[in-house]
Amino acid sequence: MNDIRHKAPAELIPDLSAGDRARLDELYERLSAATAHCVGYPCSGVFDYSELDRFMRLPINNVGDPFGKGIYRVNTQDFEREVLSFFADIFSAPKDAYWGYVTNGGTEGNMYGLYLARELLKDGMVYFSEDTHYSIGKTLGVLGMRSIMIKSQPNGEIDYEDLEETIRIHRDMPPIIVANLGTTMTGAVDRVDRIRDIFDRLALKRYHIHVDAALAGMIMPFVTDPDPFTFADGVHSIAVSGHKMIGSPIPCGIVLALKRQVDRIARSVEYIGTLDTTLSGSRNGITPLILWDAMRRNGREGFRRIVVGCLQTADYAIDKFKEAGIEAWRNNNSNTVVFPRPKGPLPEKWQIAVFEDIAHIITMPHVTRDMVDGVVADIAELSQ
Ligand SMILES: *Cc1c(COP(=O)(O)O)cnc(C)c1O
Repeated sequence: MNDIRHKAPAELIPDLSAGDRARLDELYERLSAATAHCVGYPCSGVFDYSELDRFMRLPINNVGDPFGKGIYRVNTQDFEREVLSFFADIFSAPKDAYWGYVTNGGTEGNMYGLYLARELLKDGMVYFSEDTHYSIGKTLGVLGMRSIMIKSQPNGEIDYEDLEETIRIHRDMPPIIVANLGTTMTGAVDRVDRIRDIFDRLALKRYHIHVDAALAGMIMPFVTDPDPFTFADGVHSIAVSGHKMIGSPIPCGIVLALKRQVDRIARSVEYIGTLDTTLSGSRNGITPLILWDAMRRNGREGFRRIVVGCLQTADYAIDKFKEAGIEAWRNNNSNTVVFPRPKGPLPEKWQIAVFEDIAHIITMPHVTRDMVDGVVADIAELSQ
């Protein structure tokens, strides 16, 4: 086998100059330091994928449908399908009746879910809360879909009364709901059961529920008292980010949907010998390996321990803030710790996002109690 293994001819690959090498060294130091202070963005820094280094030497491309059989064979689609099967399991997707792919992140998954909904319900109206991530507004513009923004409650959850009244007014149009499984600013959950109750009361039979589970898609499956979020609870499509709770040096994610619905909009392309079902054409073949690696190492039990740890650190942070006289809080099953926006500008080193009158830290797996102590001390100083 060895003689037919690919090895790039070294003499054809020019060297980097000493100056360029030094720049990479500097960059590495800068990024390492920034990671050690990252408490404001939901990106885990706890991973080591160096086992996969050798794949950086191959022209991997997962072009086309991960369940199809394309012409290009330098792909990792069998590993991609294993990753999807893991997510299908934790989201209670019907066995052998789901479809999905590894995306470039939560945004692409949201775009796929809404694209699917648009194709299935041409006369649909999209509803989403004002706390919804900006990727949804952008996607609705790209897809040219009609939509209405719904009020949020103070904790960031959708206002069900406003939703019901608004749907009632437009009840001749099938509703397409974007339900947040963890809003960006407060980690609030829009309850799928309460949304379905609204459809029941209004006797609406045609609808689509897309769940934006960018962060909490990797939290909710591992807690003891989850809110409803699975296909068994009646959702039609789910998007999760891979670089958030799992952690990855390359942004990624997954989207899942029901196979019978996807089949209705699939188109075949002779050129690649497979179905053109994905939004991207050429697709990343390294990120499926990254997700696979994390999944095989941690398993459900490992992810459960990570999530429990993050929620404990969140509670620790709330206690510390309170000791410092700052009223911090979090939603149930969320590691997003919300506190009043300080008067002065926040220290840049902590990379903390603010929105209107609130700010948050997110206790991701790499966030230690020492980091929490440091950030609380800095913010307490600002609030005096
Ligand atoms: C991060 C996030 C997104 C976007 O995900 P990307 O992976 O950055 O594209 C969408 N929705 C929510 C709620 C998010 O937190």
